[in-house]
Amino acid sequence: MRVGCVREIKKQEYRVGLTPGNVKDYIHAGHEVYIEKDAGVGSGFSTEEYVKAGAKILDTAKEVWDISEMIVKVKEPLKEEYAYFHKDLILYTYLHLAADRALLDAMLTSGVKGVAYETLEENGSLPLLAPMSQIAGRLSVQEGAKYLEKPFGGEGVLLAGVPGTPKAEVVIIGAGSVGTNACKIAVGMGANVTMLDVNLARLAYLDDIFGARIQTLMSTDAMIEEAVSKADLVIGAVLIPGKAAPKLMKKAYLKHMKPGSVIVDVAVDQGGCCETTKVTYHDDPIYVVDNVVHYCVGNMPGAVPRTSTIALTNATLRYGLLIAGNGLEEACRKYPVLYSAVNTYAGKITYENVALSFGLDY
Ligand code: NAD
Repeated sequence: MRVGCVREIKKQEYRVGLTPGNVKDYIHAGHEVYIEKDAGVGSGFSTEEYVKAGAKILDTAKEVWDISEMIVKVKEPLKEEYAYFHKDLILYTYLHLAADRALLDAMLTSGVKGVAYETLEENGSLPLLAPMSQIAGRLSVQEGAKYLEKPFGGEGVLLAGVPGTPKAEVVIIGAGSVGTNACKIAVGMGANVTMLDVNLARLAYLDDIFGARIQTLMSTDAMIEEAVSKADLVIGAVLIPGKAAPKLMKKAYLKHMKPGSVIVDVAVDQGGCCETTKVTYHDDPIYVVDNVVHYCVGNMPGAVPRTSTIALTNATLRYGLLIAGNGLEEACRKYPVLYSAVNTYAGKITYENVALSFGLDY
């Protein structure tokens, strides 16, 4: 198959869909790979590395889209890219179609076969979303630690303290992928950590893993209010799949929090779990409400594109090779998990929640 990868054009998006290592794997499997010039530079992969791996480099995105039978990307195509769609093209990337009617219409009209990373489900988990939650969770503590520093408006507290000083209190609301990864880093940095969740089995699991190094609490309004009043850093990491995040952190709680304490609301991409959350971007990531610093960046993994690209492509490569090696139809028959990723096919919507979002037939 002819497989292509273009440079991402979304603002501050530096990840890339294929690494030079991935290119080698596709070529060893008998495919041809076309890369847009400088597609990997934002992630630290030079065009020379792609050439060495065996890719053919093309000067423009249009040339790559035109020649490819499958395009491997990171983010959903933007309007400028719709003109490149062609019938039977396989588009393998994050799509988020339920939030993007214009993209959905463009894909249906052109007959593009849309294979969405975010809906691929295997054994009850979402393997192409998980690496980004791991990164956001780990990064949340790193960012929180930074904004606790006085020059950034924080209270001037070091997470681990030093002998003879109190450790920082880190409160993590939501103990799933993001929360667990945040916990690992916060414990590793020497903070006192409290985890809240409504899922007792999950809390029991974390209690087994981290033992006496963390405190676990049932997530109720009273527990949250009490925990955050002592916190230096609060991390919002809740998710109710397919729904807006519940507003667990009330604005009124901020008045009882320490001045200069920090909230990192990772759940911001689902609307956020704090009443005072509003989306921010990497170039201006924080704002202050009632003396509490808020960090609410919607694409946190974009801050570490090198790690994010490697983590994402570690997960996407396997399914990409199956699609390229068999064609999408045969790949789905042989590996039925792939059906869960196919959102559009030959002008039809093939993923129920996308159709439901717009009241369309499925
Ligand atoms: P997950 O499903 O693994 O975990 C979510 C956890 O929230 C679950 O353990 C669930 O029991 C818990 N929860 C639900 N309701 C709760 C409540 N009322 N109180 C406490 N806990 C509750 O999800 P995840 O992969 O950890 O993702 C968490 C959020 O982070 C999602 O909104 C995800 O989209 C977001 N995210 C954001 C970024 C970013 O860049 N901002 C990156 C990755 C993920």
